[in-house]
Amino acid sequence: MIDFTPSTRLHLDGGALVSNWRYLKAQGKAACGAAVKADGYGLGAREVVRRLRDAGCRDFFVAHWQEAVAIADLVDPVWISVLNGMAEHDVPLIRDLGAVPVLNTPKQMAIWKAAGGGHCHVMLDTGINRLGIGPEQFAPELFEGLQIDILMSHLASADEDSEQNGLQLALFQEQAKLVKAKRRSLANSAAVMLGPDYHFDLTRPGLALYGGVPRKEQSGHFTTVATLYSRILQVRQLQSGDGVGYNATHLCRAPTRVATLSIGYADGYLRGFSGKGSVVFGHTKLPVIGRISMDLITVDVSGVPQLAEGDWAKVSYDLVEASQLSGLSQYELLTGLGSRFDRRWV
Ligand SMILES: *Cc1c(COP(=O)(O)O)cnc(C)c1O
Repeated sequence: MIDFTPSTRLHLDGGALVSNWRYLKAQGKAACGAAVKADGYGLGAREVVRRLRDAGCRDFFVAHWQEAVAIADLVDPVWISVLNGMAEHDVPLIRDLGAVPVLNTPKQMAIWKAAGGGHCHVMLDTGINRLGIGPEQFAPELFEGLQIDILMSHLASADEDSEQNGLQLALFQEQAKLVKAKRRSLANSAAVMLGPDYHFDLTRPGLALYGGVPRKEQSGHFTTVATLYSRILQVRQLQSGDGVGYNATHLCRAPTRVATLSIGYADGYLRGFSGKGSVVFGHTKLPVIGRISMDLITVDVSGVPQLAEGDWAKVSYDLVEASQLSGLSQYELLTGLGSRFDRRWV
């Protein structure tokens, strides 16, 4: 590959990733796995898996089979769980790969048994009403003949103080007594922070590994992993009354120096940041003005006269703040980060 000068960079802190994982693990006695679906929440699953594996992480959760294939040479495939279940047609491929399906429906359970069974996981739906064996389908006979490693469920409202958490916990405890499985697992990042009652044998955080703050009171415990940088492509001096960007949504009220930077909605920096986002140069915060374009943003750099074409600025992307500003969730902010970033792990 020819190395052109990149203009959009994602600085990824491997030490922060590992320290976030260690912090989550230290919340109790359970083993701590990692959700690495959606390409490691947009940061790069292979780099994430390699680092967490070396730190002692064993269980990795993806959503799609292709995501399991993409990391299967990095860990024993039996450590990889595929959350979105399986189709009958794929059984031979699944056997070949050796990653483990999370069976979500009675149909999938029947297919797996008919195909000879073996090592599998099962998802119980205890109230999120999304994926898994629901209470109306639950019958102990359903699980007979399955060699279940992880019996799991997923909380709907772990990021809030909701009574739903206790109700789902109680139902999971009750159902888990009736199903033979090697391990039990309930907690995502937010549920890890609800305390050891929610941990069982294995936790499966995602968001907090990547520097997200799963519950309001947790800010400060998780370290930022992804920092965005963008290069200035052009600087121009505008006059009072000049419009900036598509539809001239920003009109200069005074002479303004405007820099155009290489990042846009195709990189995941979505329109919600128009007129709200900022970039940081040195210690100076500079406002994003006008519409976000596909590949470009415009920034009022009047405050830093020495800024010039070719300089790099940090794009403000604190997940909690950026989420409030843009109306996007912290999850969307991470998983939306596009493929054009020059991803640099340090
Ligand atoms: C995505 C996911 C997780 C991780 O959730 P976070 O909120 O990112 O910690 C855990 N379990 C299941 C079933 C998931 O789909």
